[in-house]
Amino acid sequence: MNIPFVDLKTQYHSIKDEIHEAMNDVLENTAFVLGKRVHDFEDGFAKLHNAKFCLGTSNGTTSLHLALWALGIKTGDEVILPVNTFFATAEAVAVVGAKPVLVDNDEFYNIDVTKIEEKITPKTKMIIPVHLYGQPANVGKIREIADKNGLLMIEDCAQVHCGEFEGKRVGTFGKVGCFSFYPGKNLGAYGEAGGVITNDEELRNKMQLLRDHGSKVRYVHEVFGHNYRMEGLQGAVLGVKLKYIEKWTEMRRKNAALYNKHLAGIPQLATPKEASFAKHVYHLYVVQVENREELIKFLNSKGISTGLHYPIPLHLQKAFECYNYKKGDFPGAEAESSKILSLPMFPELTEEQIIFVADTIKEFYR
Ligand SMILES: *Cc1c(COP(=O)(O)O)cnc(C)c1O
Repeated sequence: MNIPFVDLKTQYHSIKDEIHEAMNDVLENTAFVLGKRVHDFEDGFAKLHNAKFCLGTSNGTTSLHLALWALGIKTGDEVILPVNTFFATAEAVAVVGAKPVLVDNDEFYNIDVTKIEEKITPKTKMIIPVHLYGQPANVGKIREIADKNGLLMIEDCAQVHCGEFEGKRVGTFGKVGCFSFYPGKNLGAYGEAGGVITNDEELRNKMQLLRDHGSKVRYVHEVFGHNYRMEGLQGAVLGVKLKYIEKWTEMRRKNAALYNKHLAGIPQLATPKEASFAKHVYHLYVVQVENREELIKFLNSKGISTGLHYPIPLHLQKAFECYNYKKGDFPGAEAESSKILSLPMFPELTEEQIIFVADTIKEFYR
């Protein structure tokens, strides 16, 4: 049985007519950049996360950059973030000239809240929790630490569309929630796209200016900005998909529960845990396994694709050499990076496929 790691085609076929109609409308109206479809999507996405405002952007990385820039993070500042994340979280910090200060992760693969305060210095300006793999970080506690120490907070929501902390959708626990709509994310465009949400109108207006060359009126520029606008075609695709994201989220959660059931009782494998405060949206289903490299080969030989998120923790990346971290600085993340394995996960995954993955893993350890 061939099981891809992510299957974007099945979902596309299930909404093909609506997608074509929406894209066709953009083409007929030549609304190629921003435009009505993007604005409608922004309104819908803000509502979905109980936020006052949303701005569509060019991708998740520019969304993070936009938030840091608008909040005035600059050279000489320090920004605290988890060591276990996709590179872009740290990249946005480095791009504004600030230093990414890393924190080890907890048993849920998110930033360990008990290790944040020891990293705060007079230069610290912000904390960025990342809701990794789709599991909300403890934003209640992080918010408390940020407030106590006079720090800003933004959330990296690239993997957590519709995720909840204590029953409330994440993304507005800090100043800005930064989302990615990269095709493989839970809510994915058909190209590059991203977005920011906020409840702060002044901040929204600032980000809107920076998104479009510091300009509200064409060829009149108030400040130096950039071009981080969303394309019309991506707004059209996302507008269609918005109607289904809650259903797809429940399908992911059901698939995770099926994996948990069928993978139970394998001593060499640990299934992911859902924190008591969290509604996990399973962007990724990450297990920890023994003898990983052999298992990956065996699964591949049976037609099952897998992923690693992420094979090298941030502090051991070549780009990080300038910050003088060393092996051994983050024992939690380092130990996990040699054991983690991402199994196929997407809403349309069938129980038959899940059972096949589980049986193949059992066969390997037998
Ligand atoms: C995908 C991702 C990003 C970057 O989003 P792009 O749209 O690919 O630029 C940032 N942070 C995390 C945690 C991500 O998973």
